[in-house]
Amino acid sequence: MANTDTVRDSLIEKRAELVVRLHKITSDVRHADQPMEADFAELAVQRENDQVIDALGEATRQELTQVNRALASIDSGEYGCCSECGKEIRVERLEALPYSTKCLECASRSE
Ligand SMILES: [Zn+2]
Repeated sequence: MANTDTVRDSLIEKRAELVVRLHKITSDVRHADQPMEADFAELAVQRENDQVIDALGEATRQELTQVNRALASIDSGEYGCCSECGKEIRVERLEALPYSTKCLECASRSE
């Protein structure tokens, strides 16, 4: 089994990074520093930007959920086991993707 202390540290670091990113994205959405009067074309562009930002925010939120789940599984001692087949996930995979919950075989099957 991989050293979960190192994984834990990198997950906590990742989580902090994601929280900052998410905060940045959501404050962008609010347009706090944007003037209220914009003409119609500008509004359309703005709305498109919002959709991109929404997608980014959503992806970040999902990543954050995965990181939290991985941290919880470290605490419960289930970390590194595939959620599909229950086999141990290879260390190389966990190093590349510390919050993966499936082994490579199951992950590629469900994609
Ligand atoms: Zn599996």
